[in-house]
Amino acid sequence: MWMSSFARLARPVLQRSASPMVCKALRSCHRMELPGAAPSFCITPVHVRSHQTLGSASLPVACHSVRHVRVVEEERLMVVEWEDGGQSLYPFTWLRDNCQCPVCTLQSAEARLLLLADLDIHTGVDSVEVTKDGKVSIVWPEKHMSVFDAEWLKKRCFSPAARQAMREELFLNERFYWDASLRIPRADFHEVLHDDGAALAWLLALRRVGIVHLKGAPAEQGQVARLAERIGYLRLTFYGHTWQVQDKSMANNVAYTSGKLSLHTDYPALHFAPGVQFLHCINQAEEGGESEVVDGFHMAEQLHREDPEAFRTLTSLRIDFTDTGTDYCDFMLQSKNRIIDVDSEGNICKINYNNATRDSVLDVPLHQVQPFYRALKAYVDIMNRPENVVTYTMEPGDIVTFDNWRLLHGRKSYVSRPDRLRHLEGAYLDWDEVMSRLRILRRNVHGDV
Ligand SMILES: [Zn+2]
Repeated sequence: MWMSSFARLARPVLQRSASPMVCKALRSCHRMELPGAAPSFCITPVHVRSHQTLGSASLPVACHSVRHVRVVEEERLMVVEWEDGGQSLYPFTWLRDNCQCPVCTLQSAEARLLLLADLDIHTGVDSVEVTKDGKVSIVWPEKHMSVFDAEWLKKRCFSPAARQAMREELFLNERFYWDASLRIPRADFHEVLHDDGAALAWLLALRRVGIVHLKGAPAEQGQVARLAERIGYLRLTFYGHTWQVQDKSMANNVAYTSGKLSLHTDYPALHFAPGVQFLHCINQAEEGGESEVVDGFHMAEQLHREDPEAFRTLTSLRIDFTDTGTDYCDFMLQSKNRIIDVDSEGNICKINYNNATRDSVLDVPLHQVQPFYRALKAYVDIMNRPENVVTYTMEPGDIVTFDNWRLLHGRKSYVSRPDRLRHLEGAYLDWDEVMSRLRILRRNVHGDV
């Protein structure tokens, strides 16, 4: 149901190269709601790093059977030849380490019992064979026997393509990049709370697009906590379990004023900033207070293209952030974060930037001070281009859920009136907990393989 509106709303955004895999990924989102229906939409990405595994959110049910199994003694590898062609190679050591028998694995916890101290990392193999029920059995020199399911082995194949597919299935790192033409995906708050298909579609869009609006929540406090419980638990910070964004006297945070908030991520003063943010509008200002968001990953990619030197600076220098005050309790935070974090493969994975909490302490060599300012200015200038910023007004009952490692958000100033206080309630979660719920929902909705 809502997923079709997600598709319709998000469609104008993301174009350039149509990928059938993207369509497949999104079809999988609403399989529950529209059984058997042909998809009436397709979202195509502005940017997709690798096309091959976008459909993996749906855990396509594959059936792989083993035709033949043999060993290559000198390489200490087992070779599995598959019925549908192709073969997979498995090191002896890895196979012995991952024996699934009750002696080697605590099956109630799916956890390894076999100690590394007892693992012979130079083990040979006595014999291998395909069993009558299509599994692979191995007898080890100490006469221990391991039996492996064909599908289990296939998913753990060490080929680059199989590893990439598994990585995508587990972590869903493919993102749809967007700009000002994004129409923010929407879902119904109550449906997300009560329907697994709707909750799965919400979290998939949150992961892929980075932002989803939930509509129809009661305009009273406590709703972000309910939503967090749908996932697991929320992330406690010095601003409390949940926090009230209002114009406060003696504000301990610039958010608690009626002033403009420039585009920022929350909490770079922590070394591990919250991954996900919920903001629930309980009361909106009569004048001003519009929200703004940009896709920080997409902007970083644009910076990389337009100004590689600035990109290098922001991905290498660790910048100081600070936050001091009293709220949940008293706090005096200091951190060092790269404004643009990249992983070991060079993929942009986290943005850390809040101009308000960027420290006056700038622990970089003197000659890098000016290049740092130049690089930061270049990044912020790209973010502020009208073609990149999505602006929206929250209404009472709206909850915006977004990726705080990826999006930068801001707010226009507003007129504060005592008889009509603007009031948002916020909460944080971390991506580990959100991804955990996403995997469980995916298993419940689509089944597991
Ligand atoms: Zn065993």
